[in-house]
Amino acid sequence: MRRIYLDHAATTPTHPEVVKAMLPFFTDAFGNPSSIHSYGQEAKGALEDARTKVAELIGARSEEIIFTSGGTEADNFALKGVAYANERKGDHIITTSIEHHAVMEVCKFLEKRGCRITYLPVDKYGLVDPADVKRAITAKTILISIMHANNEVGTIEPVEEIAEIAREAGVYFHTDAVQTVGHIPVDVDKFKVDLLSISAHKFYGPKGVGALYVRKGTRSVSLMHGGEQEKRRRAGTENVPAIVGLGKAVELAGQEIGREAERLTCLRDKLIEGLEERVDHLQLNGHPTRRLPNNVNISVDFVEGESMLLNLDLEGICASTGSACSSASLEPSHVLLALGFPAEQAHGSLRFTLGRENTEEDVERVLEVLPGIVAKLRAMSPLLKTQK
Ligand code: PLP
Repeated sequence: MRRIYLDHAATTPTHPEVVKAMLPFFTDAFGNPSSIHSYGQEAKGALEDARTKVAELIGARSEEIIFTSGGTEADNFALKGVAYANERKGDHIITTSIEHHAVMEVCKFLEKRGCRITYLPVDKYGLVDPADVKRAITAKTILISIMHANNEVGTIEPVEEIAEIAREAGVYFHTDAVQTVGHIPVDVDKFKVDLLSISAHKFYGPKGVGALYVRKGTRSVSLMHGGEQEKRRRAGTENVPAIVGLGKAVELAGQEIGREAERLTCLRDKLIEGLEERVDHLQLNGHPTRRLPNNVNISVDFVEGESMLLNLDLEGICASTGSACSSASLEPSHVLLALGFPAEQAHGSLRFTLGRENTEEDVERVLEVLPGIVAKLRAMSPLLKTQK
């Protein structure tokens, strides 16, 4: 059976060109970038080349890019790094109730250690109101951390307006751009952000590597102590093959970013319209227009997301019920709850995230298969019977 992968927000297949670029750094070019001999300098050169590529993609300077082990570390670094370095200035952080766990759990951790965290609400589309951000700022606020786009419902937040407010108040602004870098244009100067998180495996790079952008002059501390790598901001011998892979993924993304976003938007809208036509009691979650080009998140009444997911998998279609991390748990998604969904409806959600290898044929296959699955599950559903 041909399998159709529609879970690109969880991870993407590593691009063959990325794999090709990485391979020599496992074998012939295996040097440690800290070594001064030619092997070391070869690795160091590749590392700096990747850093320049990442910086160029987001309009930063290369010295403002710190390589990390992925998006989670970048988020931890941003929040803890700023919180620890600015203890004397304040103890208050503003975030939202729909952040990824990589921000949410760090906030909870910091809260237990004495920080005060404001979790801002969002509207029914998942949008944060910049006026709420402004109101929440106090003399003790040191950081605002609000994601660029939500990984579950795909809503794109008004980061430029929020950053303006943060700058006026003299508060650092971090954005988790893990779902946007490599997919839609991101520019740190246009956005006026001070810190920004990136993860390679979300845009056809390898897993376990990412970067944190830290604007020059931002007061932050390192979380990893040891050697002098990354100008003492992140100790440990660099994962050179992975960083080279990140650089290549960035280069490829930069070449096709606008075209691919346009293509995916067409496929996305075809899928949304097709589903709305074919399945009753179905609604689109997230914002209708301010959304990621590849994200389709729907709720289907009287059916559980998990059951739809398993039935789709039997047909070779791989989707998700929400974030990759929470799909192993039966807890309703904190994002859908924050959008105001009752728990049953939050359980009935399904996320399709399209990617480079998907075609119109894939969308047609979902449209052919899903209505039958929903009808079959509804026929067995105790949820529907209680409604009748
Ligand atoms: N932030 C967001 C918005 C994400 O979607 C993810 C991954 O799902 C992460 C952070 C974590 O990134 P990583 O898997 O590279 O640790």
